[in-house]
Amino acid sequence: MKYDVIIIGAGPGGMFAAYKLAGKLKVAIFEMGRSISKRKCPSDLSESYCTKCKPCNITYGVGGAGGLSDGKLNYVNPNYPSSFTVGGDFEFINEKYLMEKMEEVDNIFLKHGAPDELYGVDEDKIDYLLKKANAAGIEFVPLKQRHVGSDELPKVIKSIVKYLKKNGVEIFTRKTVVDINPREKKIKTKDGKEYEYEYLIIGVGRGGSKWLEKWANEYNLAVSEDSKAIDVGVRVEVPASIMDEITSIIYDPKLRIVTKKHDDYLRTFCTCPKGWVIREDYGDFCLVNGHSKAKEKTNNTNFALLGHYKFTEPFEQPNEWGRDLARITTKLGGGNPIIQRLKDLRLGRRSTQARIKHNILVQPTLKTAIPGDISLAYPGRVIDDIMDALESLNNVIPGVADDSTLLYAPEIKFYSLKLKVNEKMQTNIPYVYAIGDGAGISRGIVGAAVTGLIAAESILGII
Ligand SMILES: Cc1cc2nc3c(=O)[nH]c(=O)nc-3n(C[C@H](O)[C@H](O)[C@H](O)COP(=O)(O)OP(=O)(O)OC[C@H]3O[C@@H](n4cnc5c(N)ncnc54)[C@H](O)[C@@H]3O)c2cc1C
Repeated sequence: MKYDVIIIGAGPGGMFAAYKLAGKLKVAIFEMGRSISKRKCPSDLSESYCTKCKPCNITYGVGGAGGLSDGKLNYVNPNYPSSFTVGGDFEFINEKYLMEKMEEVDNIFLKHGAPDELYGVDEDKIDYLLKKANAAGIEFVPLKQRHVGSDELPKVIKSIVKYLKKNGVEIFTRKTVVDINPREKKIKTKDGKEYEYEYLIIGVGRGGSKWLEKWANEYNLAVSEDSKAIDVGVRVEVPASIMDEITSIIYDPKLRIVTKKHDDYLRTFCTCPKGWVIREDYGDFCLVNGHSKAKEKTNNTNFALLGHYKFTEPFEQPNEWGRDLARITTKLGGGNPIIQRLKDLRLGRRSTQARIKHNILVQPTLKTAIPGDISLAYPGRVIDDIMDALESLNNVIPGVADDSTLLYAPEIKFYSLKLKVNEKMQTNIPYVYAIGDGAGISRGIVGAAVTGLIAAESILGII
């Protein structure tokens, strides 16, 4: 079978590329995971190393890694240049064009059911937050945001899928691509079948980045040098009341802190107002994450507090370092994430069920996290950074460094291999484009979707 365009991966990158090409060219998407209606996480989250779904429905399937997620849509605020640095490394894309594509992504989301409410548009309140953060030595990055909610996002994805199918896009699910032969312009799937393409778009996300790395080495796909970093930290959970002021202005506040002792860079990420802390399983370790719903709410707010650690020669495997930290943390939790009260971390002792129960202000939303001692798993420098950053944040969000604050680990964000692509998302291999998180270009739903649109426009000859 031959297609004009084959897209590998039905994440936001792949789906938005297909959206642009739909009805114009013969397009097929190959997705290793399930369709959005079959993506359910059946785990009761009480057992170690959930392996119930292969591949895991949280990270693989139509809609991509964020398919069952919170659906926070982050857009650049053109009044604040710093906001161009969130959600991806887009410095090689013309700013005006980037803004246009973001608007297009937003319009598509709105057309398919994303809510009208937009955060971060009240300039007076943004200015107030900026001043408050800067006075505390913290950078606040103003963005515009929408929140779809994990209960509503699958409906939006279903609507987009319906549009794609109606306009002739074929979507193959449970079809893992195992090889690409760029000389013959063919892909091969796990079941041994081959499909020909005129153009190929690789949008495999973080879940496919290991496979992509192997393939990139084999076919000399050009790789950027600056990808030797990793983000390690904790998920912080506090009473929603102390974050209400800031989250009512901006749903997911992006705050950047440089720590006093180690001069390290930390940031807040993926704030989930009135949400839940959740776990993700990766075979021999688990990680924590967060989500919130549009309708159902808890009394807690959680966010990731992440340190950015860069490595230089001779060590070139930050992801391995991260996996080791995740494995040891998961082991100490008996196959589960660890939870610790800030008070216990300060006192250099583990948390226990009794100590967590004693916490009158905030009780955990992730019930299966095991009370323990994060400092037995994480290096001292990371622990120093977390404590240091929380103290600074306390000046912007009073109460966040209270003894009762709950910390969950491992919270780690791995960086994919960064491929060298031009402003059209073309790789050095003819007719092959790379987009989204798997190519190391984006770090979020909107960013990935933008790269998909750009690749599609290049194929259509618009740019
Ligand atoms: C729990 C969670 C919550 C998140 N919440 C948010 C949020 O609120 N806001 C936000 O902006 N971002 C969020 N993100 C990040 C966001 O989901 C990603 O940045 C985004 O989905 C990346 O899009 P992508 O298209 O590049 O890749 P992905 O979404 O990862 O999609 C890639 C697809 O390719 C498929 N694939 C991989 N390898 C192969 C192969 N060999 N053959 C066939 N198919 C393959 C995968 O199954 C996957 O479906 C979240 C991520 C997670 C895990």
